[in-house]
Amino acid sequence: MQSLSAFRKALLGWYERHKRDLPWRGTRNAYHIWVSEIMLQQTRVAAVIPYYERFLARFPDPPSLAAAPEADVLAAWAGLGYYSRARNLQRAAAAVTGAGEFPRAFDEIRALAGVGDYTAAAIASIAFDLPHAVLDGNVMRVLSRLDNDFSDIAAGKTRRRFQQRAQQLLHPSQPAAYNQAIMELGATVCLPKDPQCLLCPVSGWCEARRLGTQPRLPVKGRRQASLKVERAVLIIERNGRLLVWLRNHDSKLKGFYELPELEHLPSARPGPPVGEFRHSITNHQYRFTVHRATVKDVPEGFLWIAKADLSRLPVSTTTRKALACAAGSDSRVTKPPSRTNPD
Ligand code: SF4
Repeated sequence: MQSLSAFRKALLGWYERHKRDLPWRGTRNAYHIWVSEIMLQQTRVAAVIPYYERFLARFPDPPSLAAAPEADVLAAWAGLGYYSRARNLQRAAAAVTGAGEFPRAFDEIRALAGVGDYTAAAIASIAFDLPHAVLDGNVMRVLSRLDNDFSDIAAGKTRRRFQQRAQQLLHPSQPAAYNQAIMELGATVCLPKDPQCLLCPVSGWCEARRLGTQPRLPVKGRRQASLKVERAVLIIERNGRLLVWLRNHDSKLKGFYELPELEHLPSARPGPPVGEFRHSITNHQYRFTVHRATVKDVPEGFLWIAKADLSRLPVSTTTRKALACAAGSDSRVTKPPSRTNPD
């Protein structure tokens, strides 16, 4: 690339003028940066902001997170999904607390539970100004377009090459600002479907723009076909209490309370559906129908919980969605019928 220093200057100048005001911007606190980066994995920025603020208010530092009951941590995370992230965060908080301070070297940060190359580079550069380039989906898209590179970004060897390229481009003395700038460019200007090249500070360096190939980049390996799955979730109430079960085996949702599904409770008698919702996990697309139901005998493993207590317990996203569906249907039933004909 011609004039690397001019490229970095253009990108950093644009970032300074246009960066979004996000709650984790401007902090050098490694713990805060770490929590934000873990939450931002697979979750949109707008969804993360309230979780980030609540989580840090509840667990302001690694010792408070390490000492908390796991159920409290999962309850604070409930709704963000991918719960192994919360468990790893707590495990790593215990390691940091035991060591007495947050690790400051890339390899030590990388060794924390749940921290991969990307997160380690983000923490090392943003908190400690260490020259490690981040490479996430946004950065790969920008790089593939800057270099008009049609390699499959799902392939490990492409990723390794892009990591080297990202490292070449990184500003060696301003890694924190540079890393955030290139991610911001991918998130707000070099968009997947509609890159805003007219607004782009580095369009003069972009080969794909020069050749008109940017809409075809990046190239991603063929996706697995999604699997459609139908499930029935049951709302069974008795004396103001709900029947739930506590996940003990599934590694991802272990410790979460969930409404039963018909397949767990075949003896239940479901009524007609009161609503439905969809939920996607990796390549599975679930369609849940929600039913009020009754059951005579409750098998082992199920328990009755007062509805009011559910708000302070870790509850899975599908259970929240099912309860919202049922509440919506109740309000429709109790609302007085609207008059369609004023005459
Ligand atoms: S010129 Fe367009 S395609 Fe190239 S980096 Fe900028 S926004 Fe992306």
